[in-house]
Amino acid sequence: MSNGLSSLQLSPVDLSQKIKLGSKAASIEGPIDKTALQAATSTLLARLNELQEMFHADGRHALLLVLQGRDASGKDGVIRTVYGAFNPIGVHVAAFGPPTPLELRHDFLWRVHQLVPPRGMVGVFNRSHYEDVLAVRVRELAPENVWRARFDHINTFERMLTDSGVIIRKCMLHVSREAQHERLQARLDDPTKNWKFRLDDLKDRDRWDAYTDAYREVLERCSTPSAPWYVVPSDDKTVRNYLIAQMLVDTLESTKSTFPPMDEAVRTAAAGFD
Ligand code: ADP
Repeated sequence: MSNGLSSLQLSPVDLSQKIKLGSKAASIEGPIDKTALQAATSTLLARLNELQEMFHADGRHALLLVLQGRDASGKDGVIRTVYGAFNPIGVHVAAFGPPTPLELRHDFLWRVHQLVPPRGMVGVFNRSHYEDVLAVRVRELAPENVWRARFDHINTFERMLTDSGVIIRKCMLHVSREAQHERLQARLDDPTKNWKFRLDDLKDRDRWDAYTDAYREVLERCSTPSAPWYVVPSDDKTVRNYLIAQMLVDTLESTKSTFPPMDEAVRTAAAGFD
């Protein structure tokens, strides 16, 4: 009997179709064998660890995973579980909150560029420069002509990064309104989660449709062959982690990283050391 995993994989957003961001798209269709999914995820995480060592030693590329999503969509969970598979020595994590006064006096990419992982590292952004066309747009923190010009700025910036050896993958963790309600309620009810609750999250929840429109435009304007966007069904955490781990395995494998061979001059010089 099929365990439902064979057809489970992420594809970059398809720009020839209207991007689906309704409740249904936050889950996968069809039954799935949970035990098989968990086992397959563990195998992928072990594979990520192996691939990272070669990627780090090879040193030709950096990997940057951009995580965006509404509050409680699971960005922290992906970092804990999927990035938790990597050796921390090669990992670069950056989170972006509201800009500081100094950051606001610079262009919007200034704070971002410094936190792009260097070659050999696997990096992840918990929120990113996309907040400058999402939160800034929805909360009306800048005039439309200012944030609208940023789509081009972002595409040019990301192209410059990919030309410099940074492999970019972007995931929108897509949760339904119902799942977000459940998770925010848990933050109110569970004393171990109270610290995560912010009243501002409720304000953004009230702007649900405005965020949907803003996300749709981001996906349409900024998904490129070299820096694709993926919409990750994220109501179920195990599915979400499996899908992202699998996409990262494919991405790291595609770099064909290898352990660099030893320089013969070094080998000769080291011969017979005691
Ligand atoms: P989180 O909610 O992700 O755990 P924080 O509370 O530190 O983390 O910060 C997230 C908040 O910062 C979000 O409300 C997000 O919209 C906001 N933010 C991030 N970048 C920007 C930006 N460039 N402009 C305005 N708000 C931003």
